[in-house]
Amino acid sequence: MLVANKVSKSFGNLKVLDEVSLHVKPQEVVVLVGSSGSGKSTMLRCFNFLETIDEGVISIDGKVINTTKDSLPKIREQVGMVFQHFNLFPHKTVLENIIEAPIVVKKIDEQVAKEEALILLDKVGLREKADVYPNKLSGGQKQRVAIARSLAMKPKVLLFDEPTSALDPELVNEVLQVIKELAKEGMTMAIVTHEMNFARDVADRVLMLHKGKIIEEAPSEEFFSNPKNERTKQFLQLVAL
Ligand code: ADP
Ligand code: MG
Repeated sequence: MLVANKVSKSFGNLKVLDEVSLHVKPQEVVVLVGSSGSGKSTMLRCFNFLETIDEGVISIDGKVINTTKDSLPKIREQVGMVFQHFNLFPHKTVLENIIEAPIVVKKIDEQVAKEEALILLDKVGLREKADVYPNKLSGGQKQRVAIARSLAMKPKVLLFDEPTSALDPELVNEVLQVIKELAKEGMTMAIVTHEMNFARDVADRVLMLHKGKIIEEAPSEEFFSNPKNERTKQFLQLVAL
């Protein structure tokens, strides 16, 4: 569904991604871990074409993406992204936040968009908040709205960049629960997280990024119970503290 082949990316002299290759199969959940600055966000941003890549190839659902020829909004419809900070429009209600892109980008009929948005709000447990403004929501609720907003575009792949890092600890679980439900329903996802119990639970495969390279990749259970790379071992010990 999402394939990166030897993707490299530098900012000036700093090589942030160094020939990164990754295959995310349909309905697969891949978790990316690694210390701060290892290139995780840049990697996701490249998959969503918020960054241009220097070398390599990215394809989505079997189609190689050519950023000079293909329409970026069309590509981004296929690859949803949920950020650490929810980026909801403050002057729009929850419902208006969700229907904005389907109406503007996909030209969906407003009534249809609203009906679909309410179904998504049900899914994330926030139907009663449809007409509320974001400043009346907790961080966990905002993030669940942001997830519903991404789903409204019916993406083929959903990317999460530390979706719970900005939340108070007691609000983390409600967001992780929603992501777990999506996994059960077969949503294809790539997730950057520091929540290791969640990662172990939700991931089919886990990848460890270090200085822009994937240094270890294994099925979830094996990754956590029997890491092979010294850096991975160190990392897992540190995050477990
Ligand atoms: P992570 O998400 O793993 O913490 P990032 O992908 O955000 O790592 O960053 C990787 C490295 O690239 C860091 O050293 C960061 O400072 C650098 N970097 C990220 N974005 C930019 C940018 N737009 N310009 C320059 N350097 C950047
Ligand atoms: Mg990051």
